[in-house]
Amino acid sequence: MNLMNKFLLFFPKYLIKLFLIISFIGIPSFSFAENEMGVSTFMYHRFGEDRYPTTSVTKEQFQSHIKYIIENNIDVISLEEIISKLENDEKFNEKSIAFSVDDAYLSFFEYAWPIFKKYKIPVTLFVSTDIIDSNTAGYMSWSQIKQFIDEGGSIGQHTSTHLHMPLNSKEYVKEDLLNSHRSFIKNIGFVPKLFAYPYGETSLAIIELLKELNISHAFGQHSGVISSYENHYYLPRFSLNENFGTSDRFGFAVNSFPLQIDQFSPEDMFLKNNKRPLIELTLVDDLNNNELNCYSNPGGNWNSQEIIKISPLKFQIKLEEDFLSGRGKLNCTSKIDDKWHWFGYQFLVK
Ligand SMILES: [Zn+2]
Repeated sequence: MNLMNKFLLFFPKYLIKLFLIISFIGIPSFSFAENEMGVSTFMYHRFGEDRYPTTSVTKEQFQSHIKYIIENNIDVISLEEIISKLENDEKFNEKSIAFSVDDAYLSFFEYAWPIFKKYKIPVTLFVSTDIIDSNTAGYMSWSQIKQFIDEGGSIGQHTSTHLHMPLNSKEYVKEDLLNSHRSFIKNIGFVPKLFAYPYGETSLAIIELLKELNISHAFGQHSGVISSYENHYYLPRFSLNENFGTSDRFGFAVNSFPLQIDQFSPEDMFLKNNKRPLIELTLVDDLNNNELNCYSNPGGNWNSQEIIKISPLKFQIKLEEDFLSGRGKLNCTSKIDDKWHWFGYQFLVK
């Protein structure tokens, strides 16, 4: 970890508050006090299932993550705390991280949960109900999920059939969600408040449906650090697997800060008729002449994309090729005062 990050992580909280008060009453303050430090939220799937390197981390990698947060005294908060701060319009002024696990594989329950539990690290498990209802090999059972809840674990919704939500009709997706609610009621006695999209895929139409069903927040699978400026229905999570689970990459994501975006277009994450959208983003804060870099995967290859500065806060990103059908991703970063600020996005391209 570099010195600045170390300084920020261990800087006494009361001094940060003092800086905030100073900036509030209008005395010029240091730039780092003006920006939120944000929450780096992580997503795992499987643990030590080496046959599935794109969805599994090795046991050694997982141990290195836990060792890293303990040795560096990293503040881990729950997904519920993130939601409550967003609901109350609070700023994320202290650097923290959060953990989630998708799909309820048995390797989570048998290997990772005992470690999370031992160190009292909060973790949310997003569960698609059908696969659990049918007692599928390799997945947790409802009694194991109940045990996880009794032992302090948190549960979130993940649909019933793990479908590509935007590719189905609204009626079909609604029925799928209501089926999962029925299964949750039957098996654990309540419908979880938290929600994560399968494959991180959503659309404006799906977000409208979630609102109708009283789901107030939802997590995706795009990289980025959560700040108070986040779309409540598209909260970013860093994915961890064998390729993206090395301790270097984990430490980098833990110590990343939000790149706060005020406006982003196109508005819909689901691109039905346009494989090469004109992407425009407006930042909350001036980059103070620091460079903005955006990487994306049009044509199937990750490359740096052309950026046109429209104004000090507004940028256009010109994709060099069309997106392929499937998931089109964008990662923008800027290094400001030796700290990496990160914004990510995912389109579903028809
Ligand atoms: Zn999933």
